[in-house]
Amino acid sequence: MAIKSKLPNTGTTIFTTMSALAREHQAINLGQGFPDFDCDTVLLDIVERHLRDSKNQYAPMAGAPALREAIAAKIYRTHELSIDPLKDICVTSGATQGLYSTIQALVHPGDEVIIIEPAYDLYAPSIRLNGGIVVPYPLSAPDYRVDWQALEDLVTERTTMIIINTPHNPTGQILHADDLTQLQRISCKHDLYVLSDEAYEHIIFDGEQHESVLRYPELWERSIAVFSFGKTFHVTGWKIGYVIAHESIMTEIKKVHQWTTFSINHFLQCAIAEYLEDASHYEHLGRFFSDKRDLLTRELASSRLKPIHSAGTYFQLYDYRDISDSSDLDFAVELTRDHGVAAIPLSPFYTHPRPEDRVIRLCFGKTDQALLNAAERLRHL
Ligand code: PMP
Ligand code: GLN
Repeated sequence: MAIKSKLPNTGTTIFTTMSALAREHQAINLGQGFPDFDCDTVLLDIVERHLRDSKNQYAPMAGAPALREAIAAKIYRTHELSIDPLKDICVTSGATQGLYSTIQALVHPGDEVIIIEPAYDLYAPSIRLNGGIVVPYPLSAPDYRVDWQALEDLVTERTTMIIINTPHNPTGQILHADDLTQLQRISCKHDLYVLSDEAYEHIIFDGEQHESVLRYPELWERSIAVFSFGKTFHVTGWKIGYVIAHESIMTEIKKVHQWTTFSINHFLQCAIAEYLEDASHYEHLGRFFSDKRDLLTRELASSRLKPIHSAGTYFQLYDYRDISDSSDLDFAVELTRDHGVAAIPLSPFYTHPRPEDRVIRLCFGKTDQALLNAAERLRHL
């Protein structure tokens, strides 16, 4: 049968590809972003209790009330924003479904959506699947700073949305207050939605504050913020996250959510609601991961990989131009196959790849021992 692909230029994600290669060559996997250690046993105990406590039937469509209350309380504590737990929140199957359902709900055929590249690889195909047109705004090494005037120059009368991501995967950069102020000005002036991927909201380092769109009143009115418990609680396999938006926008997102998945795993929602009551379960995450960032940087100081500063996420970019002239795709494969350390190339995050940047991404969200072993191998390059 002749298949007419909706995504003719899309293959398997680079994360899946590199993890498969890592397994094939028994490489230490500093590629795909997931911790190689388990979550808090306190959380596991709470989950087990809720699993046995008959929370095994459908949860309410937009999320268990207890979890939505807990999320609203957390948003107030962290951003001093009062949201309506029943109207402004939808619990989703990870940030992934939150992002996809939002795009599906809001992007119409022919709409232009600006994405800031390197961009998490989900955005562009999701826009295209819904008939939207991807308008890339490329950043370059080593600063990866947004020039908001240049970004505004890309806005046309067909632009409907800007997607941002802070802390940023894959660069580890964060947006600051002046960035959000510019974003607020542009989005209000041109009447745009802002889809804000904040999956790494708590993984931010060196005393910096996470600048959420929820902190800016005029942005909040037009923004959709997306979060991931998988990242915050070291449980990427649970696939649970949530979306926050003003009721008028959320009504449209929920329409899509109810036909996509209807509702999310009930006992996990109840367990996370309880676990969220103690803010210490996520407030020290920055310190926890910056120690790992510093360990890897220290261990690689004498190598020919040159770090680019990471201000958040559990990723750090390394410039490898002193080691190889290979493209980033080839270099990541060589590292995995020949040197036993898997990495992620940056090309898949660009519409127009920039192999001349000679940059790869390493994930330091791994045990100290895995980082020490990987560094030992990388120092020989
Ligand atoms: N956005 C970014 C920037 C990510 O790195 C990821 C991967 N964790 C996601 C969204 C998807 O998150 P989740 O695993 O909760 O679906
Ligand atoms: N977000 C993870 C990363 O950047 C991967 C998630 C996935 O494989 N879908 O590595």
